[in-house]
Amino acid sequence: NLSDRLERSFKMLKGEGKITEINVAETLKDIRRALLDADVNFKIAKKFTDDVKEKALGQEVLTAVKPGQLMVKIVKDELASLMGGTFADIELKGKPAVILMSGLQGSGKTTFSGKLANMLKKKKGRHPMLVAGDVYRPAAIEQLKVLGEQIGVPVYTEEGNMDPVKIAKAAIQEAKAKGYDVVIVDTAGRLAVDEQMMNEIAAIKSAINPDEILFVVDSMTGQDAVNTAKEFNDRLDFDGVVLTKLDGDTRGGAALSIRAVVEKPIKFVGTGEKLEALDVFHPDRMADRILGMGDIVSLVEKAQEQFDEEEAQRLQKKLAKNTFNFNDFLKQIAQIKKMGSLKDVVGMIPGMGKAIKNMDIDDDAFKHIEAIIYSMTAEERENPAIINGGRRKRIANGSGTDIQEVNRLLKQFDETRKMMRMVSQGKNVQRMMAGMQ
Ligand code: GDP
Ligand code: MG
Repeated sequence: NLSDRLERSFKMLKGEGKITEINVAETLKDIRRALLDADVNFKIAKKFTDDVKEKALGQEVLTAVKPGQLMVKIVKDELASLMGGTFADIELKGKPAVILMSGLQGSGKTTFSGKLANMLKKKKGRHPMLVAGDVYRPAAIEQLKVLGEQIGVPVYTEEGNMDPVKIAKAAIQEAKAKGYDVVIVDTAGRLAVDEQMMNEIAAIKSAINPDEILFVVDSMTGQDAVNTAKEFNDRLDFDGVVLTKLDGDTRGGAALSIRAVVEKPIKFVGTGEKLEALDVFHPDRMADRILGMGDIVSLVEKAQEQFDEEEAQRLQKKLAKNTFNFNDFLKQIAQIKKMGSLKDVVGMIPGMGKAIKNMDIDDDAFKHIEAIIYSMTAEERENPAIINGGRRKRIANGSGTDIQEVNRLLKQFDETRKMMRMVSQGKNVQRMMAGMQ
């Protein structure tokens, strides 16, 4: 995988005194090979390594910075700039603002439509309406309706009407009349680019004049994703790209090449089937991720969103006093669960992405733990020290687990408490030192 390869070539650079034509040549070759293997278009890979080389050789190597680290920074910056440099938001000026989805069947248009409506509603305070423009498959309309229901967003459909152009126009009128300020038009796709699909989506475009045309593409399709993007862009001149299924075992190549080939920004990435599994695209963070450094900024942001500051302070006090108990533990589990799938969360920790890549992290991992804790009495939760052998047996029976599992949890809890206590004291030390400066 790309980050492994890059890491390896950086390791080779370690210890070298400075970046020279000779010691950079091997690394560049490795980077180029890694990019090609990751499905990056060869022209882009070549240009990329040329740019990196030019930057690297032109750098004055400061004695404080190891050449390896300097190369990491150069490659990271170049990767980010290849992916557009800075974050590009969607433009929602129209009243209502109209967003048109495009892309092949199965790319994730309908799922993304639901995710986007949810995000606009929850985070931007907008009032979106979804439009079922995939009229050929009744299941597609049903799918959108189910999503709409889950997020509390209305879905505009017209039974029996097989003309998506008319439906989209009527939907916009309806949104205007009812005060919805964003209209998201989902459309039909086919398994491959074909004339009829292109004509249809082009007709919808000219009829409704969208604020944003988003091209949705499955990042697992590698080089094909780039070709499809090009065909759609030639025809639609879209405004942005949505890369879906970035949660799977995806090679980063598509993200790297699409932007360079169609010269349109990637605006969102889909990272799972759940409605919350949507991120706005930050090129610098993606570059970090590709390099295997972990997307720590996203992790912190996600955590902050979910974690109420007061609760954190309360916990910190409890930890310092060593009164952290199973009730607090339950609350923490709830917080972690809110942050998304366990694998996503763990994968964002630097160094962990690689470690868990092939591991099967079970999102139900908490179920047994919760069952055990719920089988404790209030007193036991407050004061785990009183849980003796008899109580353990009762808890095991009550939770449908066995005594070993209960013992394991109690032990883990004890260790967690110790570790968290150390961390919280570490933080206090840091704070004290900051105060002294
Ligand atoms: P459409 O035909 O373009 O509308 O595609 P759908 O939205 O119906 O998605 C096709 C399949 O991909 C469905 O099974 C979705 O659950 C799945 N899917 C969509 N986005 C993602 C994603 O970001 N990650 C994963 N793992 N699956 C996704
Ligand atoms: Mg669909």
